[in-house]
Amino acid sequence: MSKARTAIVTGSTSGIGLGIARALAADGCNVVVNSFTDSKEDHALADGIAREFHVTAAYIQADMSKGEECRRLVEETAERFGAVDILVNNAGIQHVEAVETFPTEKWNAIIAINLSSAFHTIAAAVPHMKRQGKGRIVNISSAHGLRASPFKSAYIAAKHGVVGLTKTVALELADDHVTCNAICPGYVLTPLVEAQIPDQMAAHNMDRETVVREVMLARQPIREFATVEQIGAATVFLCSDNAALITGTTLSVDGGWTAR
Ligand code: NAD
Repeated sequence: MSKARTAIVTGSTSGIGLGIARALAADGCNVVVNSFTDSKEDHALADGIAREFHVTAAYIQADMSKGEECRRLVEETAERFGAVDILVNNAGIQHVEAVETFPTEKWNAIIAINLSSAFHTIAAAVPHMKRQGKGRIVNISSAHGLRASPFKSAYIAAKHGVVGLTKTVALELADDHVTCNAICPGYVLTPLVEAQIPDQMAAHNMDRETVVREVMLARQPIREFATVEQIGAATVFLCSDNAALITGTTLSVDGGWTAR
């Protein structure tokens, strides 16, 4: 049996990141779970994944808003696991507000966590992947990496940036058997989306049910939230041998949103 691969999933204590970490563990990968907190629950989450899927799992605290911590996450993984085979850049935050009143500190935090963190982790992981002669990088962008909506200037700028970064890294690593792709989910019902519902209700002056159907899912021909398991399965596929020739592209899991 070949040696288990090691996967880092940034921002993986909740939502899509946790779904991806669980899917990669179910596929036999050792996983590094990450967030900016350092609680007993964080470490217990990684221990639970290790027990459930019979893999090695560790929780490594690192704040993805800080470049040096992004790089430390990768180096600490390489030291503890001996390899960095898969890097999933998933950590992300959101703020919904009109551009003219959008707070500068929110803009800076969103650009740092949703875009610059991927630059730093990729920069740190690439030397390891080149040395190993293989690697997989999966960036979690969004349908908002391909299309815009009002009131999300920082998020949409960052997610479009992630798609550009993905293409560039794919070109640079084409000779190294390292692929780099972005997954672009439509709406996935996670804590991040739950938290947007009140803001969207206020911005559009609508009740919850109306804002979900008429605003959030309005542009998804299939008016259903995606599941974290579906995003996890898409990630496992992009990390498989069968995806060796898929690089520099986006995989939409968006109920047809970007078909329009
Ligand atoms: P979530 O809020 O449920 O989870 C976000 C994770 O990131 C958490 O584990 C959180 O602890 C972590 N995180 C936040 N700030 C961090 C920081 N500074 N350092 C390290 N970790 C940090 O969100 P989610 O809905 O699961 O979103 C995950 C990713 O998927 C994000 O990049 C988001 O933009 C993207 N996405 C989500 C949806 C959706 O509908 N939920 C759609 C498209 C794309």
